[in-house]
Amino acid sequence: MKTYKIALLKGDGIGPEIVESAVRVLEAVGKKRNISFVFTPYLIGGSAIDSCGEPLPKATIEGCLQADSVLLGAVGGPKWDTLPGHLRPEKALLGIRAAMGLFTNLRPAKLYPALKGECPLREDIVAKGFDMTIVRELTGGIYFGERGYREGKYGEEAYDTESYSRMEIERIVRVAFETARKRRKKLTSIDKANVLETSRLWRKIVHEIAEEYPDVEVADMLVDNAAMQLVRNPSQFDVVVTSNMFGDILSDEASQITGSIGMLPSASLSQGKRGLYEPIHGSAPDIAGQNKANPIATVLSAAMMLLYAFDEEEASEDIVKAVDKVLELGLRTADLAHGAPALGTKEMTDKIIENL
Ligand code: NAD
Repeated sequence: MKTYKIALLKGDGIGPEIVESAVRVLEAVGKKRNISFVFTPYLIGGSAIDSCGEPLPKATIEGCLQADSVLLGAVGGPKWDTLPGHLRPEKALLGIRAAMGLFTNLRPAKLYPALKGECPLREDIVAKGFDMTIVRELTGGIYFGERGYREGKYGEEAYDTESYSRMEIERIVRVAFETARKRRKKLTSIDKANVLETSRLWRKIVHEIAEEYPDVEVADMLVDNAAMQLVRNPSQFDVVVTSNMFGDILSDEASQITGSIGMLPSASLSQGKRGLYEPIHGSAPDIAGQNKANPIATVLSAAMMLLYAFDEEEASEDIVKAVDKVLELGLRTADLAHGAPALGTKEMTDKIIENL
């Protein structure tokens, strides 16, 4: 029996409830597929500030680095909103990403047939459905480039610079091709090569690496067109790869067209197999501790962990199918029930486990 060590970062708000759901689902699928897990909880965010005075204790970093993978709930809440910047729970997210060398963010955005009514797009577009994964570069580009203020010709000026090295582009592009291989084998690389030098280097490297992946179809698209295509015809996308800033904007756009924030998982990956898996939503303090949170985004984050960190394709697929099934059965948590009777976090988790 294979055993995987998972660090649990429950965090704040609904974090503990949704991580608990994912743990129960992992244990259930593990029984079915003969996999075992050792879960070790570590403090992060506001709860870490309360217990030890800092949002990202050293023990948490060490625990995550020693684990085979990391599952995170969410951090933050009004209780800590007035603390100085370096003591804010959100600071821990940047800290753990840096400590683990997570340079890739994978965000699937899928329209569940059972949740078509949640999608804000036109009916004929919704009818075609969509299921894509955005691969965003996470540690380079303009968010990390040289920046500052200076006195210019017309007075005060501010500047930010975008720069990408061959190494940074090659490693993210390889992750994207590998991701495409695990899906429908279609990759769209998004850039602004008609204007930016960094984009021209990006495009050149994409086509060099494409030769190593003859089974993956690859196309370039300008970012302005991509923003439009995401709402005109999202069904054309399978895997999308792009730079830090373009990915930041496009992945939020893609998540919005699914219409259901409680459903969307994500993975942040480093060079090796380790990675950090988390829902895209926050700690939802308004519903914390009330058994109202939708656990599906976290449960699907655990499914991504099985696929990307452990290559446990069948177990991952079991979870994805169980989620599909409960939705097809019409089961909903309050965020998707529109006032109709809804399941609580625990009951929704029970139903997912029943359908594994
Ligand atoms: P949020 O995502 O926590 O909540 C937005 C709305 O969506 C709320 O009405 C909430 O109840 C609902 N919601 C979110 N997740 C849900 C779920 N699983 N089930 C049902 N409903 C859900 O965003 P926010 O309100 O802007 O932020 C709240 C706190 O979370 C802030 O402190 C913020 O800094 C933090 N935050 C943390 C992360 C993270 O840990 N990665 C990400 C975003 C925000």
